[in-house]
Amino acid sequence: MRTQRQVVDYSLQKRAVLRELLAGRVGTYDVCDASPYLKNAARFHGEPTDLRCPICRSENLTLVHYIYGDELKQSAGQARTLTELPVLAMTLREFQVFVVEVCLGCDWNHLVEQYLLGRDGLTGEGADEQDVASAEGAGRRRREAQR
Ligand SMILES: [Zn+2]
Repeated sequence: MRTQRQVVDYSLQKRAVLRELLAGRVGTYDVCDASPYLKNAARFHGEPTDLRCPICRSENLTLVHYIYGDELKQSAGQARTLTELPVLAMTLREFQVFVVEVCLGCDWNHLVEQYLLGRDGLTGEGADEQDVASAEGAGRRRREAQR
């Protein structure tokens, strides 16, 4: 996504958890603890993936995108589908996205990454408020021209 910035990747932490599990220092009960809210979010707003669950290896992982930020007001902390994010990114100045992977089979869940989205990430012309729609079009044309 064009305005994506300050990406924090949690794959190291995830690998550490899986290592602990493999070594028997934590049990699956400790790491497969997805709440009913998280599982609902995965069902209704989740992004299916081709990635097998690292724990049960029978289901594919679903990614849930949670959004946080003052501008979101009562929507803060809610899950959004991946397709809704670019629209929000063009409407709001800045908000935080937390991506969580969930297995609906065994309840494994882990934070994958976090990043910022929003118009504040746009640089140069076309980033002003009244021109959002045409800025989006111009950005797309620019990207296509670069291919
Ligand atoms: Zn699983």
